[in-house]
Amino acid sequence: MLSTHPLASDVDALRTRLEGAVVLPARTPGTRPAGPGTWPSTSVARVEAGALWLDVTGPAYEAGLAPLAGSSPDVGVVGYTLGGGLSWLGRRYGLACNRLIAAELVTAEGQLVRASRHEHADLFWALRGGGGSFGAAVAIEFELLPVREVYAGTLLFPWERAREVMHAWREWTATVPDSVTTSADHAVPADARAPRLPARPRPRGRRRRDRRGRRARCGAAGPAAGARAGDGHFASIAPVGLSHIHMDPEEPVPAVSDSALLDGLTAETIDALVDATGPASGSPLLLVELRHLGGALGRYAGGALSRVDGEYLYFAVGIPIDPSVAAALEAHFAIAGAAVASQASGRHYLNFAERPTDPASFYGEETYARLRRVRARVDPLELFRGNHEIAAA
Ligand SMILES: Cc1cc2nc3c(=O)[nH]c(=O)nc-3n(C[C@H](O)[C@H](O)[C@H](O)COP(=O)(O)OP(=O)(O)OC[C@H]3O[C@@H](n4cnc5c(N)ncnc54)[C@H](O)[C@@H]3O)c2cc1C
Repeated sequence: MLSTHPLASDVDALRTRLEGAVVLPARTPGTRPAGPGTWPSTSVARVEAGALWLDVTGPAYEAGLAPLAGSSPDVGVVGYTLGGGLSWLGRRYGLACNRLIAAELVTAEGQLVRASRHEHADLFWALRGGGGSFGAAVAIEFELLPVREVYAGTLLFPWERAREVMHAWREWTATVPDSVTTSADHAVPADARAPRLPARPRPRGRRRRDRRGRRARCGAAGPAAGARAGDGHFASIAPVGLSHIHMDPEEPVPAVSDSALLDGLTAETIDALVDATGPASGSPLLLVELRHLGGALGRYAGGALSRVDGEYLYFAVGIPIDPSVAAALEAHFAIAGAAVASQASGRHYLNFAERPTDPASFYGEETYARLRRVRARVDPLELFRGNHEIAAA
């Protein structure tokens, strides 16, 4: 069985589901896999299960290449890729799962198989975004991109300007080309958090903190060509730096979250979201974020989750340090969710769904039915326990 998602909110339900299960550790705590990435050809990485993005982005850069890594260096390459993979280069190059070339996995029958376009093609299709329901992947191979430099960074604004910043960002995203991928959020740095909170994990990397308290923030990445280096907090950087601009925790942190795919983003929705979670709202949420989708992320590319069906992704997260904070967070997820409800499509993005979610909402009806047929063929007794399981048909 595979280990479950560390951020799953319904821990008790999860524990029951895993009773009697054997949890396969993909990585021994405190160690790095011996050979996380090798390069079978000039632009293909072979990465073993258990490797984190931080194991891959550096060696890829040394080879003059970049993977479609997510916003945190601490996320597992295999789980991220099988679940889609939304990166800072996403609007330009699409989801990471579309760059998957092959996966070697142990099936429910105990066989080691290689799935690719030419071998077990239906299983390969399912692995491109279908998640961990189909076997235990021991290694994956994926395409790297010839990106040596990106223009990227973070702009921080005083919390009081959250409304103005979020409106400006919304209007700007309507004008940008596919080569630009951005997000906007309001967040609470540790310094400003309630004194009852325990010390947060030690920050590493290129973090910048606004010591005045909460902040509104825009992060962006695009091609370096034509950019003015050193513009504000932006600069031409090596793609390896993209893992730090979002200032994600770089070690595991307990958290609960909520997310939704939005068909659009009106000025009224921004106002409602800032009213619900911005200055004077009393919101205990650590971060409320909107990621701009579209571009190549919205184009069909042949796998189970080849495109994200939405224009924006809403994500809210908090740290449930005790039952009363956990309850307050749940209440505010409802309030913030209501603020974006008029734009929410009812669909969800697998990798950002960190609470029990109907997997049918990640895919269209036809795709979901096909995924269930693949599951029935490769794991009819539903031996594997992924974070969002596809039931066998
Ligand atoms: C701080 C942070 C930042 C993030 N940023 C992004 C982002 O920018 N873009 C994005 O798309 N996602 C992002 N995510 C979400 C992340 O992609 C998912 O949480 C993903 O499931 C993590 O995979 P994992 O392997 O680290 O976790 P795990 O809990 O180990 O795995 C999660 C699931 O993946 C599957 N899986 C993992 N390993 C295997 C394997 N060897 N074989 C078969 N199935 C397997 C299983 O279904 C498992 O339950 C972020 C998460 C965090 C915590």
